[in-house]
Amino acid sequence: MADPLDDRDVAADALRRVTAAAGPYLDSLAGRKVHDAAAAGLTATLGGPLPERGLGTLPAVARLLEAGTAAATASSGPRFFHFVTGGATPAALAADWTASLLDQNSFARASSAFGNDVETIALDWLRELFGLPPGWGGALVASATFANFTSLGCATHWWGERQGADTVRDGLAGLPRMPVFSSGYVHASARKALQMLGHGRDTVRVCARDGAGRVDLAAMARGLDALGGAPAVIIANAGEVNAGDFDPLDDLAGLARDHGAWLHVDGAFGLFAALSPATSHLTRGIERADSVAADAHKWLNVPYESGFALIREPQRLGAAFGMPGAAYLPGPQDPGGGYGLYGPESSRRARALPIWATLAAYGRSGHRAMVERHAGLAQRLARAVDEAPDLERLAEVPLCIVCFRVRPPGVAEGDLDDLNRRVGAALLADGRVFAGTTVYDGRVALRPAIVNWRTTEADIDLLVDVVRELSATV
Ligand SMILES: *Cc1c(COP(=O)(O)O)cnc(C)c1O
Repeated sequence: MADPLDDRDVAADALRRVTAAAGPYLDSLAGRKVHDAAAAGLTATLGGPLPERGLGTLPAVARLLEAGTAAATASSGPRFFHFVTGGATPAALAADWTASLLDQNSFARASSAFGNDVETIALDWLRELFGLPPGWGGALVASATFANFTSLGCATHWWGERQGADTVRDGLAGLPRMPVFSSGYVHASARKALQMLGHGRDTVRVCARDGAGRVDLAAMARGLDALGGAPAVIIANAGEVNAGDFDPLDDLAGLARDHGAWLHVDGAFGLFAALSPATSHLTRGIERADSVAADAHKWLNVPYESGFALIREPQRLGAAFGMPGAAYLPGPQDPGGGYGLYGPESSRRARALPIWATLAAYGRSGHRAMVERHAGLAQRLARAVDEAPDLERLAEVPLCIVCFRVRPPGVAEGDLDDLNRRVGAALLADGRVFAGTTVYDGRVALRPAIVNWRTTEADIDLLVDVVRELSATV
């Protein structure tokens, strides 16, 4: 079989094979290991030299399904608590398949009016979901890293303009370094975005008043004062990754207003606190920001890759990311233009479809219920940690992350970091539940994050049991 044209009639059959494998795979998620070391070897069966003569569609798909359904990390299942990783709701998963079926180029209206217009609807629904004012716009991007990049790209454009410069045309040459302020909660991806934008990741001035990274507002105010009116950027963190804590957004918005600074909020997962009256105080003030970055592949539970940037002045997107000057392409303001000219990517899949589908299927109340359930599960985990004589909680639990360590009676403080590192490694090797370690306020800790729609109380209880079991054996 040498040519897909010879195989054109089997496409629907190939998709049926995927569907046939999907049922058992999805059914297995509740019980299977997150990572099964025994199955990992199957990946190698996909290797070997590049085939000269292809297998044909159906055998190739069959081999991929066989290896993939066994060797894949079950991160869409209920017990992957590592990083901050959501699953895919049934509607989002089906819509993601639809995006591949339709294979739109959501570059612009000229390439896919459908992809473009669904993106407009999805972005507006997201804006409404998080209570941001009408008039804001945005773009769907691959991740929160790219959402930070997009937002800070707009901030860069604004900052240049304040100094009479056009950074889009001329770059940063001849300008002073762009001052950026944040708390110790600033995420590595915001630094990476600044690095990609040419500011350098160390342009961030961290104003922290303690080892956990809580913001030092007075120090930030002094730093802004010292600029003597020169424009600056403040990055506020709505949900930091170690304990899920928040910078005080209203206070940072006040500083931004007083100093004429651009306020960017990294709310990759924390933005979803706005969905519940029990946690919405954490995002109070976010409507005063200039840009907000977040992920739909985290707490909205749509498949990867799904980030979004929301911008108070949406026309900045086209100014910062348009590509004028290619005769065969539309410009950002042309009727045939679109989101590929409002963000870092040009050709892009119709990633609006899963977002539209999950919001259409479950609505505001369904997603609120999910956020509230996860916040409740985090409290359940915190209680279990507090009750266990060999576990120690290290931080408050404002949202969906529980930061704790194992601390068996009789183990010296000086040995606890090493012990917790070994427990973290043992947890990943064991594979029944997944959680990673971090360093919180100088101490090695576990920091499970609960944002997957499938997670139940039993999964949380198993996490506690497995951590305690392994800590006794490492
Ligand atoms: C996950 C995360 C990011 C980066 O998101 P990606 O989608 O992995 O690029 C940025 N900021 C915060 C606070 C995060 O939790």
